[in-house]
Amino acid sequence: MSPKSLSARVVGALALAAALPFAATACGGGDGGGGGAGGGGDTIVIGTKFDQPGLGQKNPDGTMSGFDVDVATYVAGELGYTPDKIEWKESPSAQRENLIQNGQVTFIAATYSITDARKEKVSFAGPYLITGQSLLVRSDNTDITGEASLENNKILCSVSGSTPAQKIKDKYQGVQLQQYDTYSACIDALKNGAVDAVTTDEVILAGYAAQSPGAFKIVGEPFSEERYGIGLKKDDTELRTKINDALKKMEESGAWKEAFDKNLGPAGITAPTPPPLDN
Ligand code: GLU
Repeated sequence: MSPKSLSARVVGALALAAALPFAATACGGGDGGGGGAGGGGDTIVIGTKFDQPGLGQKNPDGTMSGFDVDVATYVAGELGYTPDKIEWKESPSAQRENLIQNGQVTFIAATYSITDARKEKVSFAGPYLITGQSLLVRSDNTDITGEASLENNKILCSVSGSTPAQKIKDKYQGVQLQQYDTYSACIDALKNGAVDAVTTDEVILAGYAAQSPGAFKIVGEPFSEERYGIGLKKDDTELRTKINDALKKMEESGAWKEAFDKNLGPAGITAPTPPPLDN
């Protein structure tokens, strides 16, 4: 064994050792029980997206930003965790239910639509935002004006395990749908011409459009209702109530609107009235 590979192994072992305390607290001290509500563990693991500007983004300097990040940080604060006690776990669309069911995260705020199918596996607090599915094309495109025009041999990109991809499969079977793991991969494909359009929630598309001024435009009207919730372990009613109380407080205090304006204002979206929470 060369000295190089030995040191690589040592570094690997150290990294693993450093990661373990976080892994151990991922369940928040509740062995499949309380899901970590109430500050039982030292840190809390929260799932979000890492590549969605304005919503959930890991910045080059390692900091996190976005509306989902701010909502999750506020909720964590109400559960007794200061921002330095939060460990962020990237949560791609198709992995969210698994991450929750396996106890790898205490909760997920990741443009996560509340649906009946998902409710069979996880529970949701919220909703804390309502948006709708839309389409993003290159700014010079003239022949895609709405979802119906996609059936003219257009290639559409969306993400595996997302509600927008499912809607296209159910309702527009003539469309050539390519499913990637992340929306940022779809955006790259749109930029380089590999696909003709990207579909997902309007707030997500607006975030990408704002990141590359002049490159893209949103076309047509939203054609679904996406109600963003905070996903947590199924039937953990104690944690769900605590998260709902935190959301209510965030909305009533003005912190919700402030977070919305800060993160999504630059994308040209004005803050709506926060939706009423589900029972
Ligand atoms: N809100 C939709 C969903 O939960 C699309 C966004 C996403 O994939 O995160 O599937």
